[in-house]
Amino acid sequence: MSRPLTLALSKGRILDETLPLLAAAGVVPAEDPRASRRLIIEDMAGECRFVIIRAADVPTYVAYGAADLGIAGRDVLMEHGGAGLYEPLDLGIARCRMVVAATVPVPAPRRRLRVATKYPAITYRHYAARSEQVEIIKLYGSMELAPLVGLADRIVDLVDTGRTLRANGLEAIEPVAEISARLVVNRAAMKIRHAAIRTLLIRLQAQVAEAGA
Ligand code: AMP
Repeated sequence: MSRPLTLALSKGRILDETLPLLAAAGVVPAEDPRASRRLIIEDMAGECRFVIIRAADVPTYVAYGAADLGIAGRDVLMEHGGAGLYEPLDLGIARCRMVVAATVPVPAPRRRLRVATKYPAITYRHYAARSEQVEIIKLYGSMELAPLVGLADRIVDLVDTGRTLRANGLEAIEPVAEISARLVVNRAAMKIRHAAIRTLLIRLQAQVAEAGA
């Protein structure tokens, strides 16, 4: 038997919505990755194994071929740049928007706008496309705090219901991107493991179509 396909997953919001989708496509982990401390988990059928990593690391594992496939948010993929990856399927889950947000009323910005974000590459491209030079401040969480304490004039962050922004007196002022979770595939694996990947892809596609119907 050929070696199992390696699928990179991360704990959190995406995993909660991915597991039912995978189960419906016939891929069931032998242990619940949300409860287990193991970093490698086999699937029941022995066709796949899961590596459990940080969301931001999924494109790296897949691009280097340490995982054949992965599931990651479009935010993470856009920030990574996507080199070495195919993105054949929008799973339609973990949907949200990436926006520029500011306190309301929007204060007159300093001469060079300061933007706090977990996504410096996306933020850079967003403002470069409008020929605006901004100072980007990289943060690792709680972006909403930055404008409240004068660290930044704007933030670039994910918004789902908008409750977190509202609770902190912030408002979305510009769209940046529509986000959802995507399946990504290593370019070489797509050729070498074509049959196995295609089978999984077709099964997942059918589930996504059914969920969207
Ligand atoms: P909300 O208050 O519903 O607008 O959610 C906003 C918070 O949840 C922010 O801190 C976001 O970073 C985070 N968030 C919202 N949607 C997602 C998602 N699909 N994936 C990861 N984080 C998200």
